Amino acid sequence: MSLAVKYRPKNFDDHIGQEHIVKALRKALREKRIAPAYLFSGPRGVGKTTTARILAKALNCDSYKDITDNPCGICNSCRDIENSRHIDVIEIDGASNRGIDEVRQIRENIKFLPSRGRYKVYIIDEVHMLTIEAFNALLKTLEEPPNYILFIFATTDPQKIPPTVLSRLQRYDFKPISTFEIIQRLNKIIQLENIKIEEKAIEEIARRAEGSLRDAIVLLDQMNMFCEEKITYNDVLNILGAIQRELLEELLKEIYAGNLKKALTILNIILEKNVSILDFVREFNEFLFEVFKEVVEGKRRNYSKEDLMIFLNIALEMESSIRYSITPKVWLEFFISKMCYVPRTIQIMEILENYNIIYEKQEKKKQEETKQPITLKDKLIDYFDQNQPIISGIISDAEIKEEDGKIKFIFSNKYLLEEVNKYLENIKNALNKLNYQYKEIEILTKEENPLKQKLISELNLIKVKDE
Ligand SMILES: [Zn+2]
Repeated sequence: MSLAVKYRPKNFDDHIGQEHIVKALRKALREKRIAPAYLFSGPRGVGKTTTARILAKALNCDSYKDITDNPCGICNSCRDIENSRHIDVIEIDGASNRGIDEVRQIRENIKFLPSRGRYKVYIIDEVHMLTIEAFNALLKTLEEPPNYILFIFATTDPQKIPPTVLSRLQRYDFKPISTFEIIQRLNKIIQLENIKIEEKAIEEIARRAEGSLRDAIVLLDQMNMFCEEKITYNDVLNILGAIQRELLEELLKEIYAGNLKKALTILNIILEKNVSILDFVREFNEFLFEVFKEVVEGKRRNYSKEDLMIFLNIALEMESSIRYSITPKVWLEFFISKMCYVPRTIQIMEILENYNIIYEKQEKKKQEETKQPITLKDKLIDYFDQNQPIISGIISDAEIKEEDGKIKFIFSNKYLLEEVNKYLENIKNALNKLNYQYKEIEILTKEENPLKQKLISELNLIKVKDE
């Protein structure tokens, strides 16, 4: 038997996370004021069906002569309801019995008294899946049901139920179960089952279950099957493909500081843990929003909320771009870079001030450049273009400087040095023809500094763009 089934609450005492609902139902049971139809709405795995079963037990428990506000959970009737085999408690899956025929069948059957218990209970799960015709037929049934009939409808999507039907139901909204309550419940199961597990692993399971107790217990069960010895936090992360929060914290820290290289390194560490890019993006965005909330609430002060809002905007854009992209990794890195480089709110004013200065300088430089006369390099290239284009190609790589009668050819590509030596005589001839006075020619190469090389190539890129 799975842990989720084994540790399903058997009665109201055992029930957790929905106190407001349990209280109201027990009061109704004590006062014998049972509505003919209830609607249990809420997310999956928060106890809707379980509560419906306990309510059915309360109406039919063998240990009491009349209905009770706390069924025993162990008599034959309670056990049969628990295992979905009580003749008077009929569980119907609305998703696979959607049509009018099924509802007609129910309408026929409710004419008959319960055969074993005091109440005939119909539990219809995912009731929003019923067709309109089926709802209309159901409506007639709900108008005047016999007093021994109880309908309990469960749904994750109450908006899809027609208002005419909704108005006839007593509605209870189930809420997600708090991580704290999930941890408490898991601890109880861990103790009873003698499971060896790290505390941090329990917390991670509870957090991952996102308010669904059932999901949490199923996860615990899976972990217990996978791990032979003690279940560790890392086991949970590895098996669930989860991302360590610490890494996300680190990532955000580096992004915020504008350290793109470090941020990308951390990103790759995270992705190496078999996390899909979309899963990562989802996790990251949730995390970002959590941090944002904490900052707004004053729980942490290491980030400004304005900056986090900008990040969230980019993150949202990132999620929609990546979802349909065939190159998600590229886009992921692009958006992470964008977050790294987007100006922080404090910096924007500074940047605006500096912008004017930079702009003016650039304009001035441009004017000067256009005024410049034709250089020796231009003349040489021009000359060789006419008769020996291969030499003009070589010269175009060089920076030409004239100092004290010396003409320096400085090449950025050191392999061109050999080439140029072959054509040295041609160059000297050309200089004579161009009437250039000089003492000697020096052929040099730029120092091999990778950073400088990179800078040079970047500057070239910008130049190309400008043209
Ligand atoms: Zn019982």
